[in-house]
Amino acid sequence: MARRISINRTGISRLQDVKSNDIWVSYTCVNCGRINQINLGQELLNGKMLSETAEWECPHCGYIHAITSDLPDTWENWDEELRSADSLACYRFWTNFFNIAVENKEAYWKQCKTCGRILPASHFSFHAKWSRLEKQLECRCCKASINAVGNPKRTTEQHREATAKRRLGDLLAKLADGVDEKLDIDDIFERFDSKCFKTGIPLDKADTSSWHIDHILPSKYFYPLTKENACLLSKSANENKKARWASDFYSPQELVRLSEITGANLALLSSPVPIYNTNIDVNAAVEKYLNVRNNTDLAKRISEVKRFIEDNDLIDKLSDGNKSRLGF
Ligand SMILES: [Zn+2]
Ligand SMILES: [Zn+2]
Repeated sequence: MARRISINRTGISRLQDVKSNDIWVSYTCVNCGRINQINLGQELLNGKMLSETAEWECPHCGYIHAITSDLPDTWENWDEELRSADSLACYRFWTNFFNIAVENKEAYWKQCKTCGRILPASHFSFHAKWSRLEKQLECRCCKASINAVGNPKRTTEQHREATAKRRLGDLLAKLADGVDEKLDIDDIFERFDSKCFKTGIPLDKADTSSWHIDHILPSKYFYPLTKENACLLSKSANENKKARWASDFYSPQELVRLSEITGANLALLSSPVPIYNTNIDVNAAVEKYLNVRNNTDLAKRISEVKRFIEDNDLIDKLSDGNKSRLGF
């Protein structure tokens, strides 16, 4: 069994002895029926070549799996001449035996870096360009445990609530005043001189993965993405910004320039504390949110939207109809 090293931040550490890039195959012994696993090193194999060269000796019974081997005498339900390595039936058996073990990436096995078990490739999540099999280091069981440790308080309920909050905030932002206009990307690139506003790095409009349009005033505070509220940032700069309030991310000088470029209200941008957008249509958002097909969903959504309205002090903005619908 692999050696276990000191506990890290999550309390689940990686096994140093496990070579994550190694590729394994697994097969069931034709003679004794036990399951064996073989480390193939790092290269993916070709089934035809494998069938011509492989000699896999079962560590339990010593039977050799090779294209030159007769099938076991114990296979009495097969005619004797068909069990002979000289027969086409036997040849076909072996070529398929080896081919199935390596026919695609999912056919291989791999050792988990945290539990040390050797498992089928399907027990690992996809990870582009990570090792020849493009699989994560940890099996899905271990990964789930690691994630649970990293996020101990994130229960399903809390997750639901956070999602509801974000969705409702987005709805309010989308339905706010002034969002009728469609965002003109060409215009934004022109106004920001095709550069990241924060870092000054030139950006290529065609490479849409390299830049983002920042909500200067975040949708978390119900601001829509409009011409006045859009800032061109590189992807990494925007990842730093996320839902932060404008003055929390942009310097005072940057805010001045930003309001010159966008025409946004400088006093609002410069506010040291977040200010919620009040030009919103709460009733439209409530109606959109409650527009579901399924009644179980509806009951949940009513309680979610009710809590949201209370938390954000928006009861006064509700129509009488929506007030009674939500039980206020
Ligand atoms: Zn065996
Ligand atoms: Zn594992």
